[in-house]
Amino acid sequence: MAKHEFQTEVGQLLQLMTHSLYSNKEIFIRELVSNASDAIDKLEYLKLTDEKLKSIETTPQVNIKIDEEDNSITISDNGLGMNEDDLISSIGTIAKSGTKSFVEAMTGDAKKDSNLIGQFGVGFYSVFMVADKVDVISKKAGEEQAYKWSSDGSGSYDLDPVTKDESGTVIYIKLKEEEVSDYTSKSRVETIVKKYSNHIAYPIFLNYSEEVTEELSEDDKKDGKEAKKSIEKKREQINEATALWTQPKGKLKADEYNEFYKTISHDSSEPMAYVHTKAEGVSEYTTLFYIPKIAPMDMYRVDFQPGVKLYVKRVFITDDEKELLPTYLRFVKGIIDSEDLPLNVSREILQENKVMANIKQSSVKKVLGEIKKLAKDEEKYKEFTEQYNRPLKEGVYQDHVNKDAILELVRYKSTNDTENMISLASYKDRADTEQKAIFYIVGEDEKVLRNSPLMESYKKNNIEVLILDDKEIDEVITPAIGAYQDWTFKDITSCEAPKTGKTEEETKEVEETFKSIVEKIKSTLGEAVSDVKTTDRLSDSPSCVVKDPNDPMAQMAAMMKSMGQEVPESAPILEINPEHNIVKSLNGCADESTIETISWLLLDQAKMAEGMDIKDPVAFVKRLNTVMAKAL
Ligand code: ADP
Ligand code: MG
Repeated sequence: MAKHEFQTEVGQLLQLMTHSLYSNKEIFIRELVSNASDAIDKLEYLKLTDEKLKSIETTPQVNIKIDEEDNSITISDNGLGMNEDDLISSIGTIAKSGTKSFVEAMTGDAKKDSNLIGQFGVGFYSVFMVADKVDVISKKAGEEQAYKWSSDGSGSYDLDPVTKDESGTVIYIKLKEEEVSDYTSKSRVETIVKKYSNHIAYPIFLNYSEEVTEELSEDDKKDGKEAKKSIEKKREQINEATALWTQPKGKLKADEYNEFYKTISHDSSEPMAYVHTKAEGVSEYTTLFYIPKIAPMDMYRVDFQPGVKLYVKRVFITDDEKELLPTYLRFVKGIIDSEDLPLNVSREILQENKVMANIKQSSVKKVLGEIKKLAKDEEKYKEFTEQYNRPLKEGVYQDHVNKDAILELVRYKSTNDTENMISLASYKDRADTEQKAIFYIVGEDEKVLRNSPLMESYKKNNIEVLILDDKEIDEVITPAIGAYQDWTFKDITSCEAPKTGKTEEETKEVEETFKSIVEKIKSTLGEAVSDVKTTDRLSDSPSCVVKDPNDPMAQMAAMMKSMGQEVPESAPILEINPEHNIVKSLNGCADESTIETISWLLLDQAKMAEGMDIKDPVAFVKRLNTVMAKAL
């Protein structure tokens, strides 16, 4: 016997499975049937495309056998099967990034973790919720040797060569004592299969034994003869075996769509929305897309698992093609089934194929259309936004064709609404028609942004400002948007402040009055600033820093950032508030060392108030102490 240790993560997962409080144990049937169906999908495809496997003759099917006496349930398929390596890599290790991140997210708190399982299917291993022992006997199509994998779900498993006639997989599950009545009951198993797997494309047969009592004639009864009892083996197909997406929309109920979603998605909650489309005409295809209620855990991983499966004429082709939908829609799960693509379509063909390009384009429109529908219901859309606002922002950047449509769907935090995120349409609606600009500020911390000194003049003038606190993405994407309809996006840290109603003369006068102090501050601060100016954008604060809109490096910096490069911050412009007492007094001050101290404090406090780092915190504290000592 060859003993193997489970990979650490698998061990952890199994530990959780066997001891979890997870109430919905019956889903192990859904998971195993879904694996069986996947394996048949794969073999059907190879039968059509692989010379070596063309001669294999099988009638695809799944068999479930229940045995009350043995307290076991066996699920078999005649699909592709697994060889020794496959068994080790598929069900002894966790290869998929999704499952890995699931395990990483585990806390050891059984209750929390079992909620996690609910959010995230864990496939094969779910069988250990009900099993004392599991045997997987499998033979890979085209190979001679079969293998038996066997485990009780604690630290290790055995793997040994065995004999098996047909290719495919048999999973024998010895049920735990307490599961006796549940998964060996014909009606229970039938109900579970109908509930979760009715629209698996292949027939599922239930094999069971029934005690039959002999029919006695009247005479026999009179003679007092006892009816003979015998056990008969029976076999019944218990699912519809029609791929769900091939059914007419009108015939399908929401329940059926939702359960089908669970079989393809690794998710055990219902989807947020779905859209089913049959296209006929030049190009013929069916699509069925789902938006999960909770964003897939691997959404922000480079190695995310694509959610859309490609079929050609009901034959499964691939579930590992990231280009079926644009990456910003990577949270969408579902199916594309084309009538026109060739069966032996390769990745290269897919990427250049006109038929595929056309399907992709209209799929995007369908999904965006569905999201637009969600947006009509504010409460529902809030849930959507919480999960998917960020990928949509990526879409604004990636998808030029649909940019306008996506812009309508993105939501933003705003100064005029502290509760809800708003749309650009409502921003524009509320604003003065002459404004012709959408003002925004970007940073990491919502609170800092809301209280930034730069906001003061906008507040005073009643101009709404969008708060973009997802810096990493907003900083790159927002400048690239350019405009919403004919309104330009303007970063308030680099654009002119809104007009205050001062005449040009008045402004000139202020500039004249403060000219010499401005010069002094400038020479004190040297390279730390690119300029110093008086401003009328402030009311409460003495100073603020802004980016230079004419800085030729700024454009370049934005571009470099979008390519993921580190960019040194260029020196800001320091603006001082001529109405503020500190600035007024400073203007009359003759003491050089005080001017120096205050100049630096004006710069550092402005930076801090805007959430930036200051260069020399120690020097800042020293200056502050000097000022405090004087004040006392
Ligand atoms: P998933 O189905 O999402 O890949 P599972 O944990 O359900 O995750 O299964 C892990 C892997 O084990 C599958 O990807 C497949 O390679 C293999 N596998 C499981 N069941 C079968 C089966 N009945 N026939 C062939 N391969 C199987
Ligand atoms: Mg699976």
